[in-house]
Amino acid sequence: MLAAAGATGRPVIPVFVLDPETEAIGAAAKWRLGLALATFAARLEAEGSRLVLRRGPALGVLESLLAETGAAGMMWTRSYEPAAITRDAAVKAALKARGLVADSHSGATLAEPWEVTTGEGGFYKVYTPFWKALSARGVPAPVPAARLRVPDAWPASDRLEDWHLGAAMRRGASVLLPHAVVGEAAARARLMGFLDRKIDRYRDDRDRLDLPATSGLSENLAWGEIGPREIWHAAAEAERAGARGAEHFRKELAWRDFAWHLMYHTPQIATANWRPEWDGFAWAGESEAAERWRQGMTGEPVVDAAMREMYVTGTMHNRARMIVASYLTKHLLTHWKIGLDWFADCLTDWDPASNAMGWQWVAGSGPDAAPYFRIFNPATQAEKFDPEGRYRARWLAEGRRNPAPEALSYFAAVPKSWRLDPGQPPPRPLVDLAEGRARALAALAARGA
Ligand code: FAD
Repeated sequence: MLAAAGATGRPVIPVFVLDPETEAIGAAAKWRLGLALATFAARLEAEGSRLVLRRGPALGVLESLLAETGAAGMMWTRSYEPAAITRDAAVKAALKARGLVADSHSGATLAEPWEVTTGEGGFYKVYTPFWKALSARGVPAPVPAARLRVPDAWPASDRLEDWHLGAAMRRGASVLLPHAVVGEAAARARLMGFLDRKIDRYRDDRDRLDLPATSGLSENLAWGEIGPREIWHAAAEAERAGARGAEHFRKELAWRDFAWHLMYHTPQIATANWRPEWDGFAWAGESEAAERWRQGMTGEPVVDAAMREMYVTGTMHNRARMIVASYLTKHLLTHWKIGLDWFADCLTDWDPASNAMGWQWVAGSGPDAAPYFRIFNPATQAEKFDPEGRYRARWLAEGRRNPAPEALSYFAAVPKSWRLDPGQPPPRPLVDLAEGRARALAALAARGA
């Protein structure tokens, strides 16, 4: 989109609008958005441009800016959340009605959600045929952003500090900051580092909880610091040069697109069971057990390690996300929405589509979902994917003679009201794994799954 704006040859005023939908995102995501904006503004300033910040409902804010600046119109990159689609359609209609330019561009996904279609012209509900159709179609090459012509006068901008984007974070920025990798240059370096050093082992090691075997790029993708098309083409080039895990990596990247494809075609995926036949299922709601799960105090070591990792770093390994989601929805028979909301509050790579798809996939209520009888056994998963216990040692302190700094950092980060103490014995398991599994199987089978 910036390339298209630059190509007009006209002066460009880059703008970010903090609208009510964005105000409402989770605490860690909102804090991370602030870092992304600061870095993007600095990058524009280094090129003589600026980032103008405004707050309020998008249409009203943009109409005032258009009146103040006399701009010929607007351009933006499309986003596919239901509320964003409604907002952007209203902006487009209002601008067009006044004869102004209102151009939305693709770029946030590998393909537009409506471009990958089944033979009958419908959308995909299963990943593998989606992947085949997407890769057969091909992915457009990314267009590098051109230098932007600056206007003669700049409209006023809010100050980023005055937005207090980190205010809702109970644990404070200092806890998450060392784990954030922020901005376009850092994202690109992350991609190159991954392709240089990790790609060959990616397929074999990506599920290992104790190894830094994946790219970490979800954080940068979430804030538009790197585009999926750039990643796709860099991986394809590595593949041509003989990198072993590159196709597998592109397949993972395509899961993100599949999530947006699903959200576009079935927007209810974030709020309701994707399979309505699950609506009668008596999920448990808020409970002491759900709170213990959020606090990383279930007594199931790998679950607690993962929940603590997310609280401190703003991210969690993909395998661990599946383990904790299965534990919550199956062993604790608790509604997937409780997990989805907590992830949305804690993740700095929060992505509404991947989060919703991930939760519904594990719970069994989603498209292409795991069958109900697939209940991850956290202990077996830990043996397999954390064979020497290094991941658990990094994040668990209780009962250990020399707890790792990361494990202790969790206790320093949590609110005092949780009353957690690393000197206590490890928490007792909330549920015996075999009993929990049997209870879940009985409840799920009775649902007629
Ligand atoms: P890599 O292994 O390096 O993969 C490269 C890219 O492929 C990722 O950056 C990501 O964009 C994409 N990708 C990989 N696996 C998946 C997947 N299973 N689903 C969708 N895209 C994938 N991902 C988010 O970005 N935000 C979320 O809020 C989110 N919530 C999740 C919730 C649950 C319950 C589950 C099971 C998964 C969730 N995921 C989410 C997907 C996945 O866990 C992360 O994308 C992955 O851990 C990111 O790490 P990485 O960048 O190192 O991945």
